[in-house]
Amino acid sequence: MKALEFIEIFSEDSYRSDYTNAKAEGTCILCGMLEKEFRNPSARLKCHVSALCQDCQDSYFM
Ligand SMILES: [Zn+2]
Repeated sequence: MKALEFIEIFSEDSYRSDYTNAKAEGTCILCGMLEKEFRNPSARLKCHVSALCQDCQDSYFM
């Protein structure tokens, strides 16, 4: 997935409800996997902000 597509996901009208569901269920908003171990507190914080799991953070933030 390219950066532009990633931005589009976060600008979709459905993002807010998807985000709420993901946070409620503890799942990643992109891949739907349960959030698991995080490498460090910073990664965990990013997850709480973005609802992305560690793998997806690695894909998009690095
Ligand atoms: Zn993910």
